[in-house]
Amino acid sequence: MNMRIIWLSVYAMLAATSLAAPEKADSTQRGSAQIAQAAREISPKNIEATIRKLVSFGTRHTLSDATSETRGIGAARRWIQSEFERYGKETGGRLEVTMDEFTEPPGERNPEPVQVVNVVATLRGSQPESRERMYVVTGHYDSRVTDPMNATADAPGANDDASGVAAVLEMARVMSKREWDATLVFIAMAGEEQGLFGSTHWARMAKEKGWNVAGMITNDIIGSSRSDDGRIDNKHVRLFAEGLPPVRDVPDELLSMIKTGGENDSSARELARFIKTTAEKTVPGMTVNIVYRRDRYLRGGDHSPFLDAGFAAVRMTEPNEDFRHQHQDVRTEDGVKFGDLPEFCDFDYIAQVGRVNAAALGALALAPAAPTHVKIETKELTNDTTLTWRANEEPDVAGYQIVWRETTEPLWEKSADAGDVTRFTLPKISKDNYLFGVCAVDSEGNVSPAVYPAPAR
Ligand SMILES: [Zn+2]
Repeated sequence: MNMRIIWLSVYAMLAATSLAAPEKADSTQRGSAQIAQAAREISPKNIEATIRKLVSFGTRHTLSDATSETRGIGAARRWIQSEFERYGKETGGRLEVTMDEFTEPPGERNPEPVQVVNVVATLRGSQPESRERMYVVTGHYDSRVTDPMNATADAPGANDDASGVAAVLEMARVMSKREWDATLVFIAMAGEEQGLFGSTHWARMAKEKGWNVAGMITNDIIGSSRSDDGRIDNKHVRLFAEGLPPVRDVPDELLSMIKTGGENDSSARELARFIKTTAEKTVPGMTVNIVYRRDRYLRGGDHSPFLDAGFAAVRMTEPNEDFRHQHQDVRTEDGVKFGDLPEFCDFDYIAQVGRVNAAALGALALAPAAPTHVKIETKELTNDTTLTWRANEEPDVAGYQIVWRETTEPLWEKSADAGDVTRFTLPKISKDNYLFGVCAVDSEGNVSPAVYPAPAR
């Protein structure tokens, strides 16, 4: 902390007694205990069993046999459905399992129309005011080999992406035993490898129906801790988070973010900050490496259609990929094994990534919604900062928190409790020098992600 910030902080504290330290020792006890317990219950054994089961269907190629009970995409999705249903039974039927089914018209990687089915398990939020707000977590259950059109060869897809599906199943199992204010949607997506069919369909449907998708995480290739040169890293996960969306026609809202230096404060980046800070507190030993990029080069994922639909969406992926074990025919060449096999997976690591997800999703679903209509007043030249927002609807909202950071810093550095108001001034903290956000806080201390303010004259 430089002297200037210390001085500003001291001045601010003297000037406004309601300014407080960022965290209170016991403020989130109930919430954090519930989240930590759920995360702990994620089992590497169950993850291993799921991956081996999914691999046992031979191929899960989108164009593979959908009628066999033992091989192909149909058997795989019926098994995933039965797993979700089993967890639902164990928790008194609170998990609603549906098959989101549609026909994908012929395209580049499907010469004939093909039936595509997302397997969806929904855990409704327990707070009426938060129930419409949903957080979506996905993995994709289809698989492929070297030739993306080969629907008959063995395509184990253990890492890509049985690992993601296994983590999502475990999250559904442990989280459905508990109550969360907002709704959680666990999806085994279909048709990812043929062109993001399942996620495109679901994200468009959500947009058309006006669903409040407040955040989405896709888990794709979270299965291995070993890089292609043999190094082990089981302590990091990459979190790909886009900044401003790549659009030709820039809407006013986006233009105002660009004009005010808000390029690092898209809703996806705020979501990524939230995931990193909450998950690292709950899952010791794991570090979330935010990557300021939609995805890796030459690759895509199920978060993309969500981003394109205007939702905050991010992607989790292992730190060091080994491309000999992805999208490859299973074979041995010069003593080197190719193919996406369970033997290259690290089930303990996948469980850790699952815990990172569960920690973040739990914190999101217990917290109030992020505030709306967040503005920063720019009526006159002043060295104070005044923020305004609209009051949240949840009955347990206790107040709001202002967060800020240097414009060159990635994560929030400071916070102040604003109390239960919709306008707050930080005296002698200049809006010209920092980036600001507003969060909602409930009576148990659960804090929402931050919202970047639009300038208001
Ligand atoms: Zn994948």
